[in-house]
Amino acid sequence: MSETLFGKIASGEIPVDLLYEDDEVVAFRDINPQAPVHLLVIPRKPIPTLNDVQPEDAALIGHLFLVAAKMAAREGIAESGYRTVVNCNAGAGQTVYHLHLHVLGGRPLQWPPG
Ligand code: C5P
Repeated sequence: MSETLFGKIASGEIPVDLLYEDDEVVAFRDINPQAPVHLLVIPRKPIPTLNDVQPEDAALIGHLFLVAAKMAAREGIAESGYRTVVNCNAGAGQTVYHLHLHVLGGRPLQWPPG
């Protein structure tokens, strides 16, 4: 499997300003923010899409969401509201094939998304 941009960020090969990191995940600001707060939380493990998540990844996926909620609180959007998004495959707009959880907030968010 070829390493993606996010795989290189997760391993530290490409340095970015990390907002959070632990043994399992890292979080950083999206380079092209779609809201005043737009973060990405990604596993260090290179999982290409949500379709590739395995039963043994269940705790890791739960941890991704716990970190997303922690980051939302840190960014001051926990109470006003925020959205987490995983785009899966091209039809949903996935462009980087390393699983990532978008965290968007800081403005009213419309539903349904486009
Ligand atoms: O879900 P999707 O694959 O479309 O999301 C990829 C996200 O990665 C985009 O929001 C894009 O702005 C972001 N990105 C980034 N830094 C890069 C390349 C892409 O934050 N160097």
